[in-house]
Amino acid sequence: MSCIFCKIVEGSIPSTKVYENEHVLAFRDIQPAAPVHVLIIPKKHIATMNDVGPGDWGLLGDVHEAAQHIARQEGVAESGYRLVNNCGSDGGQVVFHIHYHLLGGEKLGALNV
Ligand code: IMP
Repeated sequence: MSCIFCKIVEGSIPSTKVYENEHVLAFRDIQPAAPVHVLIIPKKHIATMNDVGPGDWGLLGDVHEAAQHIARQEGVAESGYRLVNNCGSDGGQVVFHIHYHLLGGEKLGALNV
């Protein structure tokens, strides 16, 4: 198994966990881009958004439910935060195990969208 996020799920690579349930794990990004920077992943290995199968949408719902919980836990729910999925090389994805960045704790820069 070469996926670093799968290794984090199994515990062979350490992480600072902030949330875990049966299907979802969330941990602090090692190179935080904001005061709050949490990565939220399904424990199941899915490489990218393009690889989400018909039976996986519930898992992504679980990830979003976790994000809502974590935003409250981290104290950014009211001030606001950003939830980001990078897909593929042009999207800036570096780790090919689907994940969402939860960023907050400061006024975030504008995106060109
Ligand atoms: P991506 O560019 O959307 O694929 O984001 C990957 C993120 O994973 C980057 O923000 C990295 O800093 C983060 N990252 C890589 N390895 C680790 C790790 O071992 N622990 C926590 N975060 C990691």
